[in-house]
Amino acid sequence: MRSLITFLLLGLMPLCVNAELRVFACEAEWAALADEIGGNLVETYSATTALQDPHYIQARPSLIAKVRRADLVICSGAQLEIGWLPALLQKANNRKVMPGTDGYMEASSFVMRLDATGNVDRAKGDIHPQGNPHIQVDPHNITAVARALTTRLSKINRDNTDSYENNLKGFLERWQTAIATWEAAAADLQGKQVITHHRSWVYLLRWLGMNEVANLEAVPGLPPTAAHLSQLTGQFADGGAAVIIRAPYQHDKASTWLSERTGIPAIVLPLTVGGTEGATDLFGLFDDIIRLLQGAIDNA
Ligand SMILES: [Zn+2]
Repeated sequence: MRSLITFLLLGLMPLCVNAELRVFACEAEWAALADEIGGNLVETYSATTALQDPHYIQARPSLIAKVRRADLVICSGAQLEIGWLPALLQKANNRKVMPGTDGYMEASSFVMRLDATGNVDRAKGDIHPQGNPHIQVDPHNITAVARALTTRLSKINRDNTDSYENNLKGFLERWQTAIATWEAAAADLQGKQVITHHRSWVYLLRWLGMNEVANLEAVPGLPPTAAHLSQLTGQFADGGAAVIIRAPYQHDKASTWLSERTGIPAIVLPLTVGGTEGATDLFGLFDDIIRLLQGAIDNA
């Protein structure tokens, strides 16, 4: 009887085990990556969804409470969250996750940042003064951050280093295979010209060998103006671009307007996990990005 009870209790144990670490991610891609590397050992939370612009959210009390209980904060950095994260960290007052500690990491510190020209015009409202923060749409950047995240989780929670390293190994095996599949599938996208709403896609386009020829925003962060759009209409009246791309949270008005006047198809691409029905994890995110880009260009 006793062994039966022990057996039953052991069977129930996984339900009772709490995660070792709480991970607060500023964006859904980093929560998804923490799930890959941390598995059952981490409980992840994302401050933003794919339907929100991570440049601009409110430092809500519910977010402060999450940061207060976090063991690790992982964000894109490069000032993407400058409008809300400093206030969150200050109000949460959790020493474990302050910048400079092991409990705080900026993903963009582990990749080569694009657009870091050093001569941005802050006066004009450019919101990428430290280079482009939208690093998640190149799967090779995800690889670099996955390694850095594994090192960090192992540092905070040494007892489970083997688990984190095994999870990384398994993830990278599947990830490298997926990258090869995406690159083969996207070969015909190379050299295509693209117009984007915001400079959210520079890493994706560089990875796929596509060329960004214009942005609907004249300056990153400032809404498209009538004057700029009418200039683009003239510039692309006879084609010159294969597709116009925007993220789910960007208003369709500007891209629809330009699409109607130039005949260039306008599409929405997921910028992070949750941006489409299929983008339920990082694999689905890139599956959908490639599929949607190809669909638009095949039909053009
Ligand atoms: Zn941006």
